[in-house]
Order: sequence, then C-alpha cells, then structure tokens
Amino acid sequence: MKVVAMIPAAGLGTRMGKYSPESSGTSRKQFMLLDGAPILIHTIRKFVASAKISEIFVALRREDIESFEKQLVKEGYAKPVRLVAGGRSRQESVGNCLAKVSEDTDLVIVHDAVRPFISLARIEESIDKAAEMGAVIVGIPPVDTIKQVDRTVVQSTLLRERVVLAQTPQVFRASLLRRAYEQAERNNFRGTDEASLVEYLGEPVHVIMGSDRNIKITKPGDMALARLFYQEELENRPEAERSDEMARTP
Ligand code: C5P
Repeated sequence: MKVVAMIPAAGLGTRMGKYSPESSGTSRKQFMLLDGAPILIHTIRKFVASAKISEIFVALRREDIESFEKQLVKEGYAKPVRLVAGGRSRQESVGNCLAKVSEDTDLVIVHDAVRPFISLARIEESIDKAAEMGAVIVGIPPVDTIKQVDRTVVQSTLLRERVVLAQTPQVFRASLLRRAYEQAERNNFRGTDEASLVEYLGEPVHVIMGSDRNIKITKPGDMALARLFYQEELENRPEAERSDEMARTP
C-alpha cells in the first residue's frame, strides 16, 4: 500500500498578530523556531518517522522554497520530501500537492504544518482506519458549549456529544480525495479542511479520537505551550534514543 503525506505550509499566519514581523514573513508560525528548528521541520520529522509513509509533499509559498530546501538537505531524510508551490488557500495548496501525487498512490494523509505534536501512533492508526473506511479524521470533543450565532445573537446551542473539533491528520483514499476535489472545483465549493470536500461529495468521513496535545500553533501564546510539550517529548523518549544522542555528542 502506497501512502503519501501532504503538509500545507503556505499560509501567511495572519492570526499571529497584525503588528508582528509576520506580515514581512519573518515570524510565520510554521517557521518559528523550537529548539533551533522550524516548527515545520518538527512536523515533517513525525511523518518521516512512520515506515507506513513513502513520500512527503510540502506546500510552501514560492519565495520560501529555496531557503527551505537548504534546511531539508541538512536534515538528510531517508525518504523523499518534495516541495510544491502553494496556492491562495489551504484547499488550493493541498490541491497542488494532490496534482503531483503519482497514480499508484493508495492513501493520502494531510496534516497541518503547525501541529508538530502529533504522535506516531495516531498517524499510523489514522492510516490503518482510512485503509479500511476510505476517509478518516482525527477529532476531539469540545470542552466548551458551542453556540450557533448570527453576528452577536445566539441562534441555537449544539449538542456537545454531537460535536467534534476537527484536527489533522485527515486521511483519504487518493481516488476519493481526487473525486472530492473535482466536484468542489466544478461547483466552486470552498472548505476549511479536506474532509469538508469529501462530505460535500456525500461520502462518509469517520472520526477517531485525537489528543489535546495535538495543538495547532496559531496565536502568540501557543509557543509557550509548544516549548513545554517539546520538553516533555524529549524527556519521554525511549532510553535507547537518548543514549544514542549522548554518544554522538562530542
Ligand atoms: O487556514 P488554516 O489554519 O486551516 O491553515 C492550516 C494550514 O494550511 C497551515 O499549515 C497553513 O500554512 C496552510 N495554508 C497553505 N496555503 C494557504 C493557506 C494556508 O498551505 N494559502
């Protein structure tokens, strides 16, 4: 079974703050540093670590491709990581990756560039489930009550047990995602995640339990949490990995 990962990373990240160097491109969240490496590199490492994934596509803004290529070379991954020019929306960026995926691909796994704390177990569980079911997303139940509003007026309260917060990975049979993209294109449908295009096609999308550690680094305060989670990840690594690293340290 051939599984290809796609990581859209071509966003401007405007939610990080209007007056930050963000708009000039120096502090977009996917390039912010965590222990000396961009968030995007941490995310890619998680997908490189899965033996189930054979190839990774990363969508970037055109102006970022050259410098990011240099960082990738330093990483020396054992599997191909291909950089693709992103589009004007997340949907377009993933669409550009999908256009590059070879015909013999069985499954595609899409993951936000800014969710570096996804676990290997969750990546592989979502792949296995999608191989069985066709379309699977990772989601968590909300802890807050969710209201539907019209501007500032509440219209209804959604039943909490009927709501999930959609995270990534989102995994699909490649043929299904291609059909969903074609239909969306024909009808000019715009979604905020890949699953919504499959839903629009009328095909079922299954949910598996995510984790509240799988945060999407979006707002300035999220970096403090990211540093904490990263530290915990380092401390919880298997002993063998840690002593390996110490042996390499001069
Ligand atoms: O908009 P949203 O928060 O869902 O974006 C999630 C991911 O999509 C981010 O990793 C972002 O870099 C990426 N994106 C993209 N191309 C765009 C806009 C967003 O690849 N034009």
